[in-house]
Amino acid sequence: MTTINWLEETNKLKDELIATTQDFLRIKSVLDPATAGEGAPFGKGIREALDFALDVCKQAGMTTKDVRGYAAHAEFGQGEELVGILSHVDVVPEGDGWSTPPYAAEIVDGKLVARGAIDDKGPTMAAIFAAKVVLGLGLPLSKRVRFIFGTDEESSWQCVKTYFETEEMPTMGFTPDADFPLIYAEKGLTDLTLSQSYEAFQKLGASAVEQADAKLVSFQSGLRMNMVPDKGTAKLAPQGLDSQAIVERYEKHLEQTGLKGQAEAKDSLVVLHMEGVSVHGMDPKKGVNAGTELLHFLHTLTLDARAAVYVAAADCYLHKQHDGQAIGIAHDDEEMGALTLNTGVLEYEAEGDALFRLNIRYPHSISFEKWSTTLADRFAAAAFDLQVVEHLTPHRVDPNHPLVTTLQKVYTEQTGEEAGIIAIGGATYGRSLDVGVAFGPLFPGRPDSAHQRDEYILVDDLVKATAIYAQAIYELAK
Ligand SMILES: [Zn+2]
Repeated sequence: MTTINWLEETNKLKDELIATTQDFLRIKSVLDPATAGEGAPFGKGIREALDFALDVCKQAGMTTKDVRGYAAHAEFGQGEELVGILSHVDVVPEGDGWSTPPYAAEIVDGKLVARGAIDDKGPTMAAIFAAKVVLGLGLPLSKRVRFIFGTDEESSWQCVKTYFETEEMPTMGFTPDADFPLIYAEKGLTDLTLSQSYEAFQKLGASAVEQADAKLVSFQSGLRMNMVPDKGTAKLAPQGLDSQAIVERYEKHLEQTGLKGQAEAKDSLVVLHMEGVSVHGMDPKKGVNAGTELLHFLHTLTLDARAAVYVAAADCYLHKQHDGQAIGIAHDDEEMGALTLNTGVLEYEAEGDALFRLNIRYPHSISFEKWSTTLADRFAAAAFDLQVVEHLTPHRVDPNHPLVTTLQKVYTEQTGEEAGIIAIGGATYGRSLDVGVAFGPLFPGRPDSAHQRDEYILVDDLVKATAIYAQAIYELAK
């Protein structure tokens, strides 16, 4: 059999690919509850984009099925096994400051600029055109190939949850919704709350503090579990120390540590502000946590009994503890990297709740039960209760699985580059498939414009990705 020049075959469809992608991007498929209804649970724009993708597939000869507008699929080929390609037709809101209108899909300096260009409508169309290349060549397939189009990947993933309640899980598959070469492993993700009610604290029976410097009235830092907080505020009622003395101690602390913040005496209270550096909770050591830094200072004061417990727990287990070492849950994994711990939200009310909200990401070689039990035990000693808010288990496909090795081979053949496989701390759509990886569309070294103003995909990359997906579909399903 003669070898197929996939890029050459793809180039024959180039003009149609670009024009169809532009039309697809011109549909504003942003979540819109106001226009939601039967068959369009996330609004009219998303419904329209879903129909557009299905139409292109139908015209290419695929059979389609709509799952109540939550998701839909388009299928071709034959055989027992099913190769899945999972992508999404919804986009995040466009925001401000674009240099060309976000739904005009203009081509500027070789860039196709539009909301959804790289995430994920451009690559969705690339994958559909890849199938058109395979179909056009009339190549024999021994498996079925199915496009699954999700509709709320950017919000709650109800689409895939609903879809897989009734529809077949592909034998294996990929999602063109992240990076090339290939993401095969994703850490487990947990959002959890450690909270101590006032009643629970009273049951601890901590003895009253005789000579407190101050009483902690309230404490607040952070808004989201997956971000390092960049602001923290503590309100103190001076007792043994006067306002001025507390302000001076804080200012001295800031000077010595190089941290930024302010102190003000206000009415009968002293208010302390700390400024940190906010980064994504995936890699908290790159930031400066304003919340734990401020509690670290408070730990140098003698506070009332309840605050003393709160501040000590934070200082011992959370301050600069990005890997859970002090808690006893630090765990490194050669493949997937270390467990990471981010203290994203810290709140304290003297007569109300005291809490920490954490985002913990862990590799597959430590069990959720193991680390969460240890964490719960540590904080139970201070009357904190652990509640899991959200938990996604680690996702990993064996690096020797034919899905991985085949896609690596395809990538290398077409780019001439080595296809190193990647493990990440985040989550891709690939984890919705039992055996699923993320494969493109962003090539190594390209800036990621997803979710930003002037989102774009290079036209050349759109074509290149299409050629790669065409060979991938053929090699996986042949
Ligand atoms: Zn996406």
